[in-house]
Amino acid sequence: MPPGILRASLKIAIAILVLSAAVLTAPAQTALARLPRVSIAGQDYVRLEDWARGVSLQPKWLSKGELQITSKWSRVVFTVDQRKISLNGVNVWLSAPVAARHGSLHVTPVDVTTVLQPVLFPKKLRAGQRVQNIVIDAGHGGKDPGNQEGREQEKKYTLLLAKELAGQLAKAGFKPSITRNSDSFIELPNRSDLARRRGADLFLSLHFNSGGRTSEETRGVEVYCLTPAKTSSTNARGEGASAGSSAGNLQNDKNMLLAHQMQKSIVTRTGLADRGVRRARFAVLRAAEMPAVLIEGGFMSSPSEARKIYDPDWRKQMAAAIVDGVKSYQKQVEP
Ligand SMILES: [Zn+2]
Repeated sequence: MPPGILRASLKIAIAILVLSAAVLTAPAQTALARLPRVSIAGQDYVRLEDWARGVSLQPKWLSKGELQITSKWSRVVFTVDQRKISLNGVNVWLSAPVAARHGSLHVTPVDVTTVLQPVLFPKKLRAGQRVQNIVIDAGHGGKDPGNQEGREQEKKYTLLLAKELAGQLAKAGFKPSITRNSDSFIELPNRSDLARRRGADLFLSLHFNSGGRTSEETRGVEVYCLTPAKTSSTNARGEGASAGSSAGNLQNDKNMLLAHQMQKSIVTRTGLADRGVRRARFAVLRAAEMPAVLIEGGFMSSPSEARKIYDPDWRKQMAAAIVDGVKSYQKQVEP
């Protein structure tokens, strides 16, 4: 075949590929664009049942103020006035509460595009992109001990977990590396920059939580991804809706998909309580140009969880759960 014809048929083949990819993701977006906006408490909302039907999901009332939408593969439950939803068995915090108006439930368009669509209709990576190179960030280090409970310091256990995780990821065929291999201090933005220079496909920042005071009630796992521009965060410091866009916001949909798979895997495999996928403008997430999450793997302030965090066998189990989270993310996004 003459090179000209070969080039032309290649171009056609690529055009068909691009078109079919567009057709696959378009319905979710057109459905949202067509919906009328309703202003509630000064914010734009859309009617949940209309959006669900537009993307072929079945709405059903479970009780007054509680709406479920389902497909063959998915189940989402929304409760009036709450930011927390149940999304395929995992809790996820929306940026604004579910609102009732004229007997219907409403959500904000930004929660549709940055929470529901990325998880229910995951987009594939571009051809040639893979999930291979994973940079693990061992939280804190050096002069920054992180949380301190008695004589135990968070920085020691994030490094131990990072090393265990790197070993398991390598065994599973990935290419892992760690931001620090010893008790050294690295500035926060430099950690994401290191990931960029190493050509990371994913960035996983490892931390352990503290409830402020020792309490059995405050326990469980939280996985954070970056707050979308102009929406409010979930964390207690709760940066408001005024904050603009950062580098990490280019990955909003992948960030949420990764956080969701990770939360699901950790909750299922470790039995830690599900405190939900949350969003915050942490410095390492703002600066990460690749899909990135920050894992708070239990509370050092809870005596029963602290015992687990300090136990090498339990950390093995935690690392295995994180590897599984990476694998299920990979399955959703690799073409
Ligand atoms: Zn920390």
